[in-house]
Amino acid sequence: MSQELVAFLGARLDEEADLARRCDGDGCGEWVAQGHAVDFCQSRLAGFHPTIALHVALHDPARVLREIEAKRRVLARHALSPAGGDPELPWENVDDCQYDGDPWPCDDLLDLASPYADHPDRPRRF
Ligand SMILES: [Zn+2]
Repeated sequence: MSQELVAFLGARLDEEADLARRCDGDGCGEWVAQGHAVDFCQSRLAGFHPTIALHVALHDPARVLREIEAKRRVLARHALSPAGGDPELPWENVDDCQYDGDPWPCDDLLDLASPYADHPDRPRRF
């Protein structure tokens, strides 16, 4: 169960990064809200409520990719170390939640998983 959540989160981040890249997130430029429209760099779409336009622009693929990379770093810091909770084994300066005596999965991993509460692949036990 312990690595099931890590694998699940990694798969979600992979999916989201793939989608962002397919929206030309690696070089198109910044999405910008302009009143009722959003400038998507290669095209401009109007008809949004201005708040919705701001929300859409906030999900600029380049920004989404930066956020995904930040989440991957958090995930890596909280993955279980090879020590597996045994203080006698080498520990690679990872925030090993079991080693630290914290519950596994820790609150940080549960927070990373919380947006996917209704995902069909979400592990049931954690
Ligand atoms: Zn942790």
